[in-house]
Amino acid sequence: MKVAVLAVQGAFIEHEKMLEKLGVECIELRKKEDLDKEFDGIILPGGESTVQGKLIKELGMEDEIKNKIKKGLPVLATCAGMILLAEEIANDDKVHLGLLPVKVKRNAYGRQLGSFYTEEEMKGIGKVPMTFIRAPYVEAVKCGTEIMAVVNEKIVAVKYNNMLAMSFHPELNESDKIHKYFVDMIINNK
Ligand code: GLN
Repeated sequence: MKVAVLAVQGAFIEHEKMLEKLGVECIELRKKEDLDKEFDGIILPGGESTVQGKLIKELGMEDEIKNKIKKGLPVLATCAGMILLAEEIANDDKVHLGLLPVKVKRNAYGRQLGSFYTEEEMKGIGKVPMTFIRAPYVEAVKCGTEIMAVVNEKIVAVKYNNMLAMSFHPELNESDKIHKYFVDMIINNK
């Protein structure tokens, strides 16, 4: 099994370390040609969604990433990655990949609560540590998107077919539960 990590900006190295810990081979997606390589899943990391969105467009990567996910490639999207994946952004008129049927709100916790840590249940996974950094949350889910976790009455994790997306950074804590769950999604997809 090989997992590709979008490595144009943001917290991609931490995801790679997590995959290494699980013994999963990973490759970095830095340019268009990297998308020709073989891989069984993709991680869209946290960072800055506007920068990431601009870069994947400029580097000519957007359409191919979109096609692959549309065709069923399992994706783990965290924080900015979730914004990239969302069909609608409440406080932005931009849409990037536009594949996940949710409306997300960027920087949704304001300045004061911009960053915080908590632990909460995630459906089918159990209690997981959650580190939020200038995080978005899901304002509304559409057509069959499953709610996976809720914190302070806000939806912070969702799943829709091959897409698992969350507001927080699972790669910044010791727990590898979410990455394991994602690896299982890949195995079940094969
Ligand atoms: N605030 C960032 C954005 O809007 C997301 C923050 C993150 O990925 N930690 O893209």
